[in-house]
Amino acid sequence: VTTFKGKKVGLFGLGGSGLATAQALVAGGANVTAWDDNPDSVAKATAAGIATADLHHVDWGGFAAFVLSPGVPLTHPKPHWSVDLARQASVEIIGDVELFVRERRAHAPDCPFFAITGTNGKSTTTALIAHILKTSGRDTQLGGNIGTAVLTLDPPKADRFYVVECSSYQIDLAPTLDPTAGILLNLTPDHLDRHGTMQHYADIKERLVAGSRTAVVGVDDSYSSLIADRVERAGTKVVRISRRQPLADGIYAEGSVLMRAKGGTSSPFADLADIQTLRGGHNAQNAAAAIAACLAVGVSEKDIVNGLRTFPGLKHRMQPVARQGEIVFVNDSKATNADAAAPALSSYDRIYWIAGGLPKEGGITSLTPFFPKIVKAYLIGEAAPAFAATLGEAVPYEISGTLEKAVAHAAADAARDMEGPAAVMLSPACASFDQYKNFEVRGDAFVGHVATLEGVTMLI
Ligand code: ADP
Repeated sequence: VTTFKGKKVGLFGLGGSGLATAQALVAGGANVTAWDDNPDSVAKATAAGIATADLHHVDWGGFAAFVLSPGVPLTHPKPHWSVDLARQASVEIIGDVELFVRERRAHAPDCPFFAITGTNGKSTTTALIAHILKTSGRDTQLGGNIGTAVLTLDPPKADRFYVVECSSYQIDLAPTLDPTAGILLNLTPDHLDRHGTMQHYADIKERLVAGSRTAVVGVDDSYSSLIADRVERAGTKVVRISRRQPLADGIYAEGSVLMRAKGGTSSPFADLADIQTLRGGHNAQNAAAAIAACLAVGVSEKDIVNGLRTFPGLKHRMQPVARQGEIVFVNDSKATNADAAAPALSSYDRIYWIAGGLPKEGGITSLTPFFPKIVKAYLIGEAAPAFAATLGEAVPYEISGTLEKAVAHAAADAARDMEGPAAVMLSPACASFDQYKNFEVRGDAFVGHVATLEGVTMLI
């Protein structure tokens, strides 16, 4: 990145993306001083040829910018907190997304740039848009909060497409964010620990769509709906999407069919009924957003529908991993609490449910509305006794203990089920740490056990 060529830049946070950002700045001719409170990270940066100094104790006078890694707190009780010192010296504080935005503006201002935010569905929508673009033969770069740091992507050029997932934190540190298509999926009270009030959280998210050439906004919650009205009044082109209600203009879901509406007339655009990776109302919202955003940059209807049909889904998020006749095996290991398990339970009908692990506060009482769809539950880990108590007489269950036993028993029971399509699903509503390193390892273990079953066809 050449934006800070010949200028002094401070950089704090030397994890993977921080180090990559420091290197990109140095390569672009910036005079970078980096720091991290973890001495190992500082040593690594020094070894990589990056100049380091304790930024909590430097004179900020000569610095042009302070670049923070995602996750670095903006305020800190420390008396000498670098962010406070930089702010007092009127040094601008930005993140890597802002560096990318400036680089794009300087070198390829017209290259299509999608920025995606919202409380839920960010990664799915980001991956779906990137998949649609890629399968239509476009040069596509996927990054941001979903994993790959934006500055490690190939550099901006006119016919290159960028799809970037943005957390609130990244938006907060990107004051001139100006996507071609900015997407706000939804806003629900969540992650308020970092952002304080819901209003502040909503204001940050609003900035992403307010700066967009086309804003795609989910209007099913009141915060997002107000944001759509406000940015439209301010002159931004807005495309509304809904999973719950017909719209006069925009993209909305009618059952599994996504409708495209213009001036009060609507026609079917795509049917998600047969697309296993996009089941459920929440995915109708994600798909609607992807459709609206792709249309906004001129992707053809045919390319979009083709991309929807071939979307492989994201690992560990309601991911269909295998089939056996009418039984589908679903890995939803990312569901680490009851709220996160709700979309999966609502998306299938005859469920052999594998749940449990390290329990979270509240247990599974909020999932009671889905109990009638659960044929039987297979409980694992520390939460098993508490979950058993909640299921009580309402749902048949067994305490399987381990994931291996749960998979074997659920598969055997489902195979005897003659009543039609069924799902054997790991959607644990618990953290994994009592039995696994993290939810990814747990999901992989589920897939591994499923793969050893006789007669299953793996889908991944
Ligand atoms: P994020 O990146 O915002 O955390 P993901 O796309 O990784 O979201 O999805 C995580 C989980 O959130 C999914 O497994 C599903 O349970 C739920 N989810 C996905 N999309 C939505 C949506 N549009 N609305 C509500 N919940 C959703």
